[in-house]
Parts: sequence; C-alpha cells; structure tokens
Amino acid sequence: MKSDSAASGVVVVFFGPPGVGKGTVATRLAEELKYHFISSGDLLRANVKEGTELGREARSHMDSGGLVPDQLVTRMVLKSLDSLSGGIFLDGFPRTQVQAEELESYLRGRGWRLQVIDLTADDRFLMKRLVERIICRSCGAIYHRTNLPPRVEGTCDHCGGALYQRDDDRPDVVARRLEVYHQQSAPLREHYRRQGVMLTLSGEKPLEETLAAVRAALIGRNGAPE
Ligand SMILES: [Zn+2]
Repeated sequence: MKSDSAASGVVVVFFGPPGVGKGTVATRLAEELKYHFISSGDLLRANVKEGTELGREARSHMDSGGLVPDQLVTRMVLKSLDSLSGGIFLDGFPRTQVQAEELESYLRGRGWRLQVIDLTADDRFLMKRLVERIICRSCGAIYHRTNLPPRVEGTCDHCGGALYQRDDDRPDVVARRLEVYHQQSAPLREHYRRQGVMLTLSGEKPLEETLAAVRAALIGRNGAPE
C-alpha cells in the first residue's frame, strides 16, 4: 500500500435527496478542508463557453437538440481531475454505472482513493423541509416557515426583498423529485454499497452534526491531504 505519493488524492462522491442539505455540507467542507469542488454541469458550461475541443463537441449535440453523451461528460470530468491533487468533491458525476467504473479505473491509475458519502433522510422529513422553504427573490437567501422564519413575514431579513416559494418546492413536485431521486440513485448506490466504499449518514440531524460526521469520515478514513 503506497500512500506517500506527493500528488495523492481522494475523490468524494456525494449522494443525497433534494432537501437533505447535500449542497450546503459539500460547499462548507470543501471550503474548510480546502478541497476542490467540481460540478459536472458547471464544467460542461465552462467548456462550451470557452470553446474547448470537448466543449465544441458538446455544443454540436446541444444545438441539434440532443443530450450530451455520458462518455463526453466522463472525458470532461476526468480531464479536469488531471491537473488536480488533494481532496475533490464531485457534483453531478457519476450518474451511471459505466461512468462510475471509468472513474474507478482512473483513480486506480493514479493511486487515488474514493470515498462515497450517502446522506439519507425520511421522505416525510424532506417533504416538510422543502414545502416550507421560502426564498428571497432579490438575494436568494433561504428561509423556512417553521425552522428559520424571517423576522417580518414575507420579507427578507438581509435585503428587504420579497420571499416566495419555488415551483419546485410545491408538495406534488417535491414528491415527484424524491421519487426520481430514489429511482435514479438506487443502482449507483447499490454499486458503491457492494464495494464497501460508501458511508451512509442521517441527514436529519442539525447541520453542525452532519458536518462533523462527514468531516470525521473524510479526515478519519483518508487523512487530510498534505
Ligand atoms: Zn434578500
């Protein structure tokens, strides 16, 4: 087991249903642990905007009304990993078992480790959290009717903007989003569970507790990158 490579790395793949706080946890820890944060969606947009070879190829699919092929997204993500070391959070990738296997083979090639975090919560808990969520139209601040109400109803504490509920957070839409998440994540989560690289944690705890648990998993198991 070689673990003293100067350019060692750990890639973190994070699962979590809508409303579980995955984005907040990943963003906070990426900042705190000085991990990189790679979003496949941002990467795709940046490649298209900059007109890279991969970006132009993606654009030709988008222009003809099709989806960008999985294989192209894989090449973009792996290429972006080439120049990095240390800790890296991946967002939006992998989405398929083929992508997962290509990522694993890439990581083996570099002697890097993979850590999968699976943040879970009961659907009823998520439903309550999401349907009570209200957002500032001006600055994007997020409130919750029960847990984090604004001082003045309907008005943002920070900027005085109007608060509203996103269409995505209406009960029937939330139920559908959760169903889609369960269906789409099941095969990959099963793939990672079988490999024994996935740590499942409850996302129903207060944010600080969840942060502590994920932090311990990342640092305790993998060591802080030098
Ligand atoms: Zn505001």
